[in-house]
Amino acid sequence: MAEIRVEALKKNFGEFTAVKDSNFTVADGEFFVMLGPSGCGKTTTLRMIAGLELPTSGRIFLGGEDVTFNRASHRDIAFVFQLFALYPHMNVRKNMGFPLVCQGMPRAEIRQRVEETARLLRIDHILDKPVSGLAGGDRQRVALGRAIVRRPMAFMMDEPLGTLDSEFRDLMVRELRELHNSIGATTVYVTHDQLEAMAMADKIAVMNHGVIEQFGHPQEIYDRPATMFVADFIGSPPMNFLTVAGGLAPGARDVGLKEARIEVPELREAAPAETLMLGLRPEHIRLDDAGPLRGEVFGTEYLGTTQIVTLNVDDTQVKARLAADVRLREGETVGLSLDTARLSLFDAASGRALASARDDAVHAPRTGTGG
Ligand code: ATP
Repeated sequence: MAEIRVEALKKNFGEFTAVKDSNFTVADGEFFVMLGPSGCGKTTTLRMIAGLELPTSGRIFLGGEDVTFNRASHRDIAFVFQLFALYPHMNVRKNMGFPLVCQGMPRAEIRQRVEETARLLRIDHILDKPVSGLAGGDRQRVALGRAIVRRPMAFMMDEPLGTLDSEFRDLMVRELRELHNSIGATTVYVTHDQLEAMAMADKIAVMNHGVIEQFGHPQEIYDRPATMFVADFIGSPPMNFLTVAGGLAPGARDVGLKEARIEVPELREAAPAETLMLGLRPEHIRLDDAGPLRGEVFGTEYLGTTQIVTLNVDDTQVKARLAADVRLREGETVGLSLDTARLSLFDAASGRALASARDDAVHAPRTGTGG
């Protein structure tokens, strides 16, 4: 397996720039997810790494070797597409073994590799069945199996679960991650689904308009979004934003909302902006009669273990995740407090975070005796 390194990678299609100056390293054995809305440049980046698209500029290294101008067939990368094409006239065994036949591998070795891989994917019982009658999940496993038998240096997966229904999808998310844990292959995985990304990734790059807005561990991205775009894209419901009244005085540690002052975490950079936005996750809002904010209940969405309550605060609608057993009436005014150690503060003009959750709040020490 191998490290993948991308340096100043750029791709233009005519006048249009699909990927702008991407830089990242995927460590050997990591599961790396490129996440972002449709058209943000995920697939184009993946295709450049795989050798299916030539970059306009920049470099791609695979296992330390500069492969920027190598053909796809010389990169030792396996690609799994969303619309995978299995050979309909071959059974599962032949489909899986086909890449090895093409490599000229001896038949006994092909048999051994295919059976080993099929056991890993739990499809050994259907090896001699035709692929045409298989259910979606099994077809996807066969497609994965065909990629895995080759034991390539890295896997590229482009929305491989996109065509599955949600139940199968959840199952395959778990299976893919388990599979990754057992084979430890460097994987680049493209999706627009943040839940898939959070559930599987060791590292995530959140892309927007061809730019990587943030690269990091899932928890880091969730807790400390680098931009308002990331804060909004990750999380369900997404982060709430409240406009700050006035700026942030030099050295000040709190900001003003319409009727309250709220303490903010330490600034990352001293860059007082014209318009500041306070970012708060729904689960960091609490009902508190003595709290600094007032909110009018607009509606509730019962989710079983929790409820999402929409509140009008300072002319803005915010969503709070509260315990399911709290009874609230529409139109009722409630007091609210915030987990101030976990707030973010953004410069609304650039969208960049100026302050975000405190270290000790994000990585709280374990309490209790465990066990
Ligand atoms: P999706 O999930 O919708 O494919 P994506 O993030 O993977 O989104 P890309 O497929 O990488 O996005 O496309 C990025 C942008 O580049 C899009 O605006 C797309 O229309 C454009 N693009 C991609 N390939 C080409 C091409 N061959 N010629 C012209 N424009 C292209």
